[in-house]
Amino acid sequence: MPEPFPTPPLSAADSHSPAAPRLPGRLPDLWAHPRQRAWVEVDEAAITANARALRAALTPATELMAVVKADGYGHGALPVARAALAGGASCFGVATLQEGLELRQAGIEAPVLVLGNLTQPEELRTCLHWQLMPTLSGMREALLCQNIAAGSGRAMAVHLKLDTGMARLGADWQQGPRLVEAIAGLDAVQLAGTYSHLAAADAPEGDEGLTRLQQQRYEQVLRSLADRGLDPGTRHLANSAGTLRSPALHFDLVRVGLALYGHRPGPHLGGALPLRPAMRVRARVSLIREVPAGVGVSYGHRFITRRPSRLAVVGIGYADGVPRLLSDRLEVLFGGRRLRQVGAITMDQLVLDATDVPELDVGGVVTLLGEEGDAAIGPEAWSETCGTIPWEILCGFKHRLPRLAKDGAEG
Ligand SMILES: *Cc1c(COP(=O)(O)O)cnc(C)c1O
Repeated sequence: MPEPFPTPPLSAADSHSPAAPRLPGRLPDLWAHPRQRAWVEVDEAAITANARALRAALTPATELMAVVKADGYGHGALPVARAALAGGASCFGVATLQEGLELRQAGIEAPVLVLGNLTQPEELRTCLHWQLMPTLSGMREALLCQNIAAGSGRAMAVHLKLDTGMARLGADWQQGPRLVEAIAGLDAVQLAGTYSHLAAADAPEGDEGLTRLQQQRYEQVLRSLADRGLDPGTRHLANSAGTLRSPALHFDLVRVGLALYGHRPGPHLGGALPLRPAMRVRARVSLIREVPAGVGVSYGHRFITRRPSRLAVVGIGYADGVPRLLSDRLEVLFGGRRLRQVGAITMDQLVLDATDVPELDVGGVVTLLGEEGDAAIGPEAWSETCGTIPWEILCGFKHRLPRLAKDGAEG
């Protein structure tokens, strides 16, 4: 069924002013109606339910950190953060300073850990001011924090990151005890946590070698700290895959991204948890074309109609986050049926073969990703075809697509 959208009432209000262009009144809000072309719907109740399901899989003493970086994996950081809090998350992980500020400026007061590296004094001063916890990978930033916080009247809470086998951020794990001791000696720095990050927690069953090695290294640091009477603060190691893989990886806190949004980091992980995908990507048909057999469709004519065809042009393309690599391999849902996309996906449009679906007409809404009726298409289907991972698909949706709450309100 085509879902209508409001047509802007025409008014001559602006024509009184000679300088104003002759445009209908209230143009910006009504003509840019969020369901006019293509949009992302976010099921906030699903986020809350996922947080609750994850929470229930943890011991009461283990905290759930909702990772809301990259604008909440494309879902919108603020609605996701609020929905995750409602489901029992107690703190947030972001990648950048700006992402942390967005949470604070929206009035979110829960602890926020910046997972990316901050190197400049100004960045760390902003952290102190807004009570965002930076990740430290060594003494350089620890000393900057000490200098900034000393004399400010408050201690700066930080997390120390140790590299146990990822070779990205973090200090070498063998330096862990020495660093914790040195940070403990800084009176204006408070070590709120000591953590590491797993490089292959989503590996197939029976292929746990690297995860086990990382766990052993991390635990060796913790034992050494305990022996010396040093406090690591909150201990954490697991991402979604680690969380779903084994409670032995949970420690005091788990940092969950993908699973919070309703997706499993691997087909073998999280099968027991009732995770619900929270994102739906939809778009509207803008034109129907009847063409004969033998017509080349879209750039390069990589698809040629084999029969008289009814083509539906849909207003969404790779500039919105539909990978061009899916050209000729994408399927969309409409009224419980699957339609094939044909020809090259272009920047702003794609074409469907609607020959067998005569009820799809101009204004009709198709679902590219997510559930429709009993059918569903997940980011896993796209990522497999494109040779990437669901994470990249989810955070690939551009800001050109309005984010709307599933109940229809603008989000
Ligand atoms: C992104 C990120 C996570 C969350 O990863 P998921 O696999 O999406 O759960 C956890 N920890 C760190 C350090 C991250 O950068």
